Amino acid sequence: MKDCMNCIDNTVVLLGSTGSIGTQAVDVCRSLGIRVKAIAAERNIDLLERQARELSPELIAVRDDNAAREMKARMADTPTRVLSGEDGVIEVAETPCDTVVNAVSGMAGLKPTLAAVRLGRRLALANKESLVAAGERVMATARETGADIIPVDSEHSAIFQCLQGNIDGGNGNNIKSLILTASGGPFYGKTREQLKSVTPEMAKRHPNWSMGAKISVDCATMMNKGLELIEASRLFGIPRERIRVLIHRQSIVHSAVELEDGAVIAQLGVPDMRLPIQYALTYPKRLPGRAASLDLAAVGILSFEEPDMDAFPCLKLAYEAAARGDEACRALCEADERAVNAFLAGEIGFLDIYDYIKAEIG
Ligand code: NDP
Ligand code: MG
Repeated sequence: MKDCMNCIDNTVVLLGSTGSIGTQAVDVCRSLGIRVKAIAAERNIDLLERQARELSPELIAVRDDNAAREMKARMADTPTRVLSGEDGVIEVAETPCDTVVNAVSGMAGLKPTLAAVRLGRRLALANKESLVAAGERVMATARETGADIIPVDSEHSAIFQCLQGNIDGGNGNNIKSLILTASGGPFYGKTREQLKSVTPEMAKRHPNWSMGAKISVDCATMMNKGLELIEASRLFGIPRERIRVLIHRQSIVHSAVELEDGAVIAQLGVPDMRLPIQYALTYPKRLPGRAASLDLAAVGILSFEEPDMDAFPCLKLAYEAAARGDEACRALCEADERAVNAFLAGEIGFLDIYDYIKAEIG
């Protein structure tokens, strides 16, 4: 693995630069002096233009063709090349650099992940859908090409951090179990009856994290934890029976690993995605960061409990898909994305999300 000896000299390309993770990744690059060589987004060209004028990337890709045309006109006074469509986004993913950051939301992130991994690039991966929909393929390709995949998702970053110095021979054999923590989302403690009237606005308001619309709704249904269970299983090569989901309301313990001797190693910190983003960019180095210090006395109590599978049955669907393999996980991921989009568009209710996915995946 390439050692990040001097992060000032590092270069990244950033897919999904205008999103929640993308803008925080720009923040981290700014504070570490990391050069951003290329950026890509779907259609938010106002923000993309502001980023381009600050970062002076060589290349920009805008997935939406009309927005790309407009962006090209706006950038005409600069040497930056502007590409359009999915091919443009892939070209950004293939741009030579030290680290590709994939912060695209949803299934659209899969092709850029595969493009980067095929070239053996180091991939800082926020897009969990890549590993849920095609985890076995992505990990097999990474093994072939030697691409390193460093997780950005906070739970997986936590596990990755806990494993440093604790793995024999890198094969994960001395891991007894993984403990994946979940905040419980905005509707913790509610019954299915109470969840009937949930609106998109209510579902998008997470108590501890500020995130994009898709992942926020996934947190509200707890499908997010289901997707993360599959993500962890693929990334760390641990079967789902050895991954336990626990509700931890404070979002301070970001996840933990139980080793074969019984030691449980956890990673703690304030909920701030800039920490896992930065670690993915500086790994294996630690550099000063912008996240606030954790004051455990102020937090006081750290609580853990079993998830309520009756109120949040999407988690059960993910457990079942994980047992059935890549194809079932891909179907789950696609059905979830369609259901969440329909819910956000006001076409189906909150509880219909589960029914829709269940009907789709059989
Ligand atoms: P956002 O919705 O905030 O941002 C998504 C980004 O992807 C935007 O830049 C969007 O562009 C871009 N995008 C969407 N579709 C395409 C496409 N087809 N081609 C190129 N770019 C595209 O999402 P988040 O930042 O919240 O999440 C990103 C990923 O990270 C998700 O997979 C999520 O699960 C994961 N993640 C997020 C966390 C968080 O705290 N937000 C935590 C852990 C994981 P535009 O703005 O133009 O629409
Ligand atoms: Mg997460």
